[in-house]
Amino acid sequence: MDFIDLKTQQQLIRADLEARWQRVLAHGQYIMGPEIQELEERLAAYVGVKEVVACSSGTDALLLALMALEVGPGEAVFTTPFTFVATAEVIALLGARPIFVDIEESTFNLDPEALARQIKMVQQEGKWRPRGIIAVDLFGQPAAYDRITAVAEAYGLFVVEDAAQSFGATYKGRRAGSLAPLAATSFFPAKPLGCYGDGGAVFTSDPELADRLRSLRNHGQGRQRYEHVRLGLNGRLDTLQAAVLLAKLEIFPQEVERRQEVAARYHDGLRDLVRVPEIAPDCTSVWAQYSIRTPQRQHLQQQLQAAGIPTAIYYPVPLHLQPAFQYLGYRPGDLPVSEACAQDILSLPMHPYLTAEKQDFIIATIRRALG
Ligand SMILES: *Cc1c(COP(=O)(O)O)cnc(C)c1O
Repeated sequence: MDFIDLKTQQQLIRADLEARWQRVLAHGQYIMGPEIQELEERLAAYVGVKEVVACSSGTDALLLALMALEVGPGEAVFTTPFTFVATAEVIALLGARPIFVDIEESTFNLDPEALARQIKMVQQEGKWRPRGIIAVDLFGQPAAYDRITAVAEAYGLFVVEDAAQSFGATYKGRRAGSLAPLAATSFFPAKPLGCYGDGGAVFTSDPELADRLRSLRNHGQGRQRYEHVRLGLNGRLDTLQAAVLLAKLEIFPQEVERRQEVAARYHDGLRDLVRVPEIAPDCTSVWAQYSIRTPQRQHLQQQLQAAGIPTAIYYPVPLHLQPAFQYLGYRPGDLPVSEACAQDILSLPMHPYLTAEKQDFIIATIRRALG
């Protein structure tokens, strides 16, 4: 059994994919070929933003977003510790200070009240200048953007949406990627929309930010080819990867529907036995992960493994306790909700091609292990 099944999906898109690759091989524009603009337009229409800048990874999408906002030394950027390392890594790489704020237990996303308290404290302390917030849509569910935006406005901060796991989800009828003035997503193969390598995109409806992002993506290029008006990156997406994404976008809406059905079947089969994920009434999740919580995690994971069912732990160590962030001075107990989740969370196989039979086997195995 697969944790994420990319093979079945490939069979479905194979003919379209090969036709698209043939076209790239024929025109030979491997860097910034016409598929890039086509993809950017398709993504903008899907998400509901004016501009999309395709780029080399989700990490680079976040980095480009912060570079466009000119984040730098002396500034504090607030984010969750219960996320993939990239979210906070980009803050630190630019010389700014990541400040971690605990999550809400029900959604695994940034707690807006804790956020307001933390910003106020940092401001009063006066050591770091509060500059912005990166909210993460963990496991595919958007964060509480209205409340987070209200906090940001009260303190004059920017909000960046880390939509690496939530492409295809909604918040109050709006799509992930459009929930903050700048959003970043990832096309890593295992994400809800993935390519066959690394890829990502930045979303915005601000044309000035979009211009800056396009320049930053390509070594800070100015109007002319070898004019560099700022320091940037080689942050482009490959044309071949854009062709993969265009093929996958054709079936993406049906895949999102299938993910809802799979999540609903887990919910019905497990809710009396383990803590199942909760989706806020104003959200839909795209179910990048289906993550349950149980105090018997190790036992359950072993039993599932013995039955040939793969599982994963996202995330075993919250970022404030990672060696790379030791210099920030956090201690165990500082962010108790994130630490508790890290102790007992377990993600189950989740993808659009998980059959009802396989899912019932997973559910039955869990019931036997914990019953
Ligand atoms: C995957 C992920 C990233 C990084 O994306 P890459 O494409 O792997 O660089 C950033 N943030 C979150 C929350 C992610 O899950």
